[in-house]
Amino acid sequence: MTSAVRSALAAAPERRAKIVCTLGPACASPAGIRELIAAGMDVARLNCAHGDAAWRAAITTEVRQAAAELGREVGVLLDLAGPKIRTGGLANSERLALAEGSTVTLMAAAAPGESADASGVITTSHDLASAVSPGDVILLSDGLIELRVETASGGAITCRVINGGELASHQGVNLPGARLPIPAMTAQDMADLHAGLAAGVDFVALSFVQSAADVDLLRQAILDWAAAHPEAPGAAATAIIPKLEKPSAITELDAILSRSNGVMVARGDLGVELPPEQVPVLQKRIIRAARRHHIPVITATQMLESMTAHPRPTRAEATDVANAVWDGSDALMLSGETASGQYPNAAVRMMVRIITEAEGAHQEDFEPRRRRREDGTPHSIPETIAAAVATAARELPMAAIAVYTQSGETARQVAAFRPPCPIYALAAEPRVRRRLGLYWGVTPVASPEMATTDEMLRRAERQLLEHALIRRGQVLAIVAGVPFGISGHTNLMRLVRVGE
Ligand code: PGA
Ligand code: MN
Repeated sequence: MTSAVRSALAAAPERRAKIVCTLGPACASPAGIRELIAAGMDVARLNCAHGDAAWRAAITTEVRQAAAELGREVGVLLDLAGPKIRTGGLANSERLALAEGSTVTLMAAAAPGESADASGVITTSHDLASAVSPGDVILLSDGLIELRVETASGGAITCRVINGGELASHQGVNLPGARLPIPAMTAQDMADLHAGLAAGVDFVALSFVQSAADVDLLRQAILDWAAAHPEAPGAAATAIIPKLEKPSAITELDAILSRSNGVMVARGDLGVELPPEQVPVLQKRIIRAARRHHIPVITATQMLESMTAHPRPTRAEATDVANAVWDGSDALMLSGETASGQYPNAAVRMMVRIITEAEGAHQEDFEPRRRRREDGTPHSIPETIAAAVATAARELPMAAIAVYTQSGETARQVAAFRPPCPIYALAAEPRVRRRLGLYWGVTPVASPEMATTDEMLRRAERQLLEHALIRRGQVLAIVAGVPFGISGHTNLMRLVRVGE
């Protein structure tokens, strides 16, 4: 974008990449949520690994209220824990010292939450003996403690401690490379999902997805719930976001993405399941694949980690955020920085500044010659319109693209081609507008459904003029589907000079 166009859009959003904030004790009050939204939060993430369903329902309501007060659209993302394995609790919150070279036994807890004991037995939330063989590596506490399996039989795993450390209660257990002997969605996940759908969440993320079948399972669970709850219209369209953090998910990347509405590069567990040096490579690979599938991609974890305790990020973190933007992320996520850190608002504002600077300095390369999908099939009519409007936006100094979108699909397609001007998505449904908050460069705008093409063209122009998002004399593109009211029928692009 030229600087002339940029300055003409002073009232337009300053950045294209979006920000997902994890909510927790550091920010989860009505005032705290308002501050995060004012700072730049586009989507609020509720992590089912912490808190309970009643807390999440209350927070969902608070996010809705705060967004309404500020005139913003903020989606809520429910993050299901999935087959996450944890160690048991330790008595009196003690720590268990695991010395290098010593032997420990891992055993499934007889009852959930049962304690590990001091005799060297560590309980785990699931029986893992059938999933490992001698020589396999088991990692505890985010990979800080490394064990090597010596024997695995009768439900007990004996291990040698390779990297020692102090084990606290309820730590994560990773079996790098192993297919987990646990269903992709546990009974707890189902309960959390149902409560979240009842609360009206907009996105559901699932941790430790291992195969395309796992995504299908979540889709079916959402459809089943929606069918049984006609009082919650729109629940069936809740967006599904698998979290890619298992090697087997990378093997099935395309099959998983083709069934999903978005995806998360979950670098935290990914870097435990796989060696850390593979994380940057996989981040680029997953982002590229998501872009080919035209679905939004969230880059997550440790983006501004040091800001949990300090008011400024490290230079490496600033660089990481900028690189995630240049890699083509639709959204970047904050975890502990906003959920439990000391500087939640400062972290969001810092992320806004880094994104804005990165985008101003260098726009991601566009692939104008990409006329076909990856599998060789031609683009659909809506995809062709989306590609055409993005090309037009590169050739003209275009002030904005107004997209009439019934289900949000057309806005998603336009965003996928990364046009260099703001995309205003005009949608009647609040649920649709909240989902659009995750898409790169898209600003949702409330708009009633139109009856005629003329009305639609005039109305888009008037609405954006009223909001001071465009000015007389500028070029505005309008994208829509005629006749109206049919989702996925985008077939019209109109370029107008505003006020003529
Ligand atoms: P988590 O997922 O924060 O729920 O573990 C993200 C990640 O692993 O990066
Ligand atoms: Mn994770």
